[in-house]
Amino acid sequence: MMRESDDRTGTPTDTRTNGGTPPNARPRRFLSALLKMGIRQYVSGRQEEGSLRRLRARAAACTRCELCRTRRSVVFGEGDEQARLVFVGEAPGEEEDLQGRPFVGRAGKLLDQMIERIGLSREDVFICNVLKCRPPHNRDPEPHEVEACKGYLLAQLDLIRPEIICTLGRHAYNALLGVDERITRIRGRLTEYKGTTLLPTYHPSFLLRNQGAMKDAYADMEKLKGLL
Ligand code: URA
Repeated sequence: MMRESDDRTGTPTDTRTNGGTPPNARPRRFLSALLKMGIRQYVSGRQEEGSLRRLRARAAACTRCELCRTRRSVVFGEGDEQARLVFVGEAPGEEEDLQGRPFVGRAGKLLDQMIERIGLSREDVFICNVLKCRPPHNRDPEPHEVEACKGYLLAQLDLIRPEIICTLGRHAYNALLGVDERITRIRGRLTEYKGTTLLPTYHPSFLLRNQGAMKDAYADMEKLKGLL
């Protein structure tokens, strides 16, 4: 660990005489410079992790829509809280609702394979959904449910600050960008969400029903690999 006096000139540094800069301003400026350079691994993530934990606790007690009456779990999301890549799905299904974890059913197994194509594993990325609670019978999310829940997703992305977001299916894309697009029109086209690269791809549940679309999904994973 370098002390303040261990600079290259060997001259003890007195921050009090440094043009009036408060003594604790320089480390903060240094950390913010590292962040701007994209060197996040050198900046402590403890504060973000703490905030994510608080957000998770808030979501766990959420009653903002009627899904709270039928849910068994609030599926907040899981993975590396400093991930460079975040996957955003639609909403928990039956298995996810039972286990309290995202993408653990059949679609989840396929998502795991897609992540492997990038040369990563589930632990290297963060996986979450637009809705944190299961809609009954896996129906599509209602617009008012998306509105009620979206704040959690936006806060997750603000805290994790990934380099790339991969949306799975139309609901995640439309919720984040506030549009109403068909997945076949936007899939594979890079765009941005608040300055972060966003790549929309097919939802794994769609891929399970449409094996022919797999090659496009794998092409998207190759694209992600190239971007990371
Ligand atoms: N489908 C989703 O969109 N999310 C899950 O977590 C599981 C299935």
